[in-house]
Amino acid sequence: MDAIERYLAPRALRQALAVLAQPGGATVLAGGTDLMPQSHAGRVRPAPTLLNIRRIDGLDTVSLDGTSLVLGTLVTVTTLLHHPLVAQHVPLLTEVADRFASVQIRNAATVGGNLCNASPAGDTLTPLLALDAEAELARLADDGAVLTRRVPLADFFAGPGRTARAAGELLTAVRVPVATPQLVTRFYKGGTRPALDISTISIALATRRDAGVLRGVRLALGAVAPVPLRARHAEALLEGQPLDPARALAAARAAAEQDARPIDDVRASAWYRRELVRNMTQRMLDDVARA
Ligand SMILES: Cc1cc2nc3c(=O)[nH]c(=O)nc-3n(C[C@H](O)[C@H](O)[C@H](O)COP(=O)(O)OP(=O)(O)OC[C@H]3O[C@@H](n4cnc5c(N)ncnc54)[C@H](O)[C@@H]3O)c2cc1C
Repeated sequence: MDAIERYLAPRALRQALAVLAQPGGATVLAGGTDLMPQSHAGRVRPAPTLLNIRRIDGLDTVSLDGTSLVLGTLVTVTTLLHHPLVAQHVPLLTEVADRFASVQIRNAATVGGNLCNASPAGDTLTPLLALDAEAELARLADDGAVLTRRVPLADFFAGPGRTARAAGELLTAVRVPVATPQLVTRFYKGGTRPALDISTISIALATRRDAGVLRGVRLALGAVAPVPLRARHAEALLEGQPLDPARALAAARAAAEQDARPIDDVRASAWYRRELVRNMTQRMLDDVARA
């Protein structure tokens, strides 16, 4: 790890944004479960200023704002797993948290860190994409005002470790539309173990079912491209259609052959990842059809 010249742990958002606005910025530290191992391994070079955001008031809350569930960036995976508002309004995230790492890692790992680390294998990325979530980013204006903007997650990921977050900005929250009674969701995480493992692939589905027909279909794939992505060809085959085995198979094939762009790496070959996408998407859709 490079020498850290300054370590700051402000309690106010404005102070943190002022640090980020300075020339050279700062490396943001949340739970540190990605940053610390990556720094020790020499895979990232932190800035001379390390900015610990864990003490900032109000960034670790879960709240309802109209039809959105707002997850502060410091909401941990443990909070996702146990918070009643998450279970009631976005149960898919409770399910995801239950498949995430170990208890020790869950206690420290934050939703914001998972998104900003931007690993295509990050477990909250595909469900949040499928749920049409938005990232909320804050920065300090020249007159000292705090400015915020929202970025749909579909536009947030730019590559492994890269996001649409501009210099001087901090991710402050993730806004997730609350589930309606018609919404059907599914999550699949493929790895060598059911949990405690980085995903070989992940798949998240969110769709409304109106009188047997699928509407607003969103299928997201993880670890099959440099960024988590929406399986647009598969979605188009499902949109506005009743779900039967032939359609499930066609959509699963489209997801594997047209949407996924996997590579060979230490966890799996590209061929195996395509097989997983096809088989697991089909299994997921068949399960929805039966439900
Ligand atoms: C043993 C182990 C098991 C793991 N298992 C899993 C797993 O099952 N699934 C999974 O998805 N991940 C897993 N991870 C990875 C990691 O735990 C997650 O990605 C976690 O959510 C990262 O959150 P954090 O708060 O620790 O982020 P940090 O390490 O603090 O930060 C990660 C990156 O995001 C930046 N950042 C953090 N917060 C902000 C913000 N608010 N604004 C701007 N930038 C920010 C940091 O600068 C850094 O670049 C595992 C890690 C370990 C060590």
